[in-house]
Amino acid sequence: MPTETELQLLFAELNNYYFNGETPVCRIRYNSRFSNSAGRITYSTRPVLIELSVKHFREHPEALRETLLHEMIHAWLYDRAGDTGHGPEFRKKMAECGLTSIYHDLGNMKPFNESAKRYILRCEQCALEILRRRLPRAAMSCGRCSKQGYDPRFPLTLLEVTETRELGMTVPRAAFKSQR
Ligand SMILES: [Zn+2]
Ligand SMILES: [Zn+2]
Repeated sequence: MPTETELQLLFAELNNYYFNGETPVCRIRYNSRFSNSAGRITYSTRPVLIELSVKHFREHPEALRETLLHEMIHAWLYDRAGDTGHGPEFRKKMAECGLTSIYHDLGNMKPFNESAKRYILRCEQCALEILRRRLPRAAMSCGRCSKQGYDPRFPLTLLEVTETRELGMTVPRAAFKSQR
């Protein structure tokens, strides 16, 4: 894993490449206590603090760059507009940075541990998000869009919560609940 100094260099590199150097100065640290999130951003400190989970990235080093970029979009957007959410502006910037999912997509990977409320089931049709403690056993469809029981036209996408955020003013429901 890169050292904290190397992370700081990666930050500078990504800042130049994707943000035209506009991301405010952030301090990037590893946090060895995180067990149910990959990253965290704290807006209330000066500079803004981005923390990354040692435990998570030891097992998923390939996800480090994406997670750092994700947190950088938060820092950038907060600085510009006081916006802490995953709304349209966030998604627009995400696309520019080549990120495809708000949350770390679970795919076929086993979660690195089972802990409280770490899965999100999301309906792409109506944006309903349900927070779950455990992996669902079977495919589920959206209860709001499916009128009569299970309907494969409205599948729920499974996502893993990978970050917690502090002091959000517009923190979306699901992300907020993921903070214990
Ligand atoms: Zn986020
Ligand atoms: Zn729905």
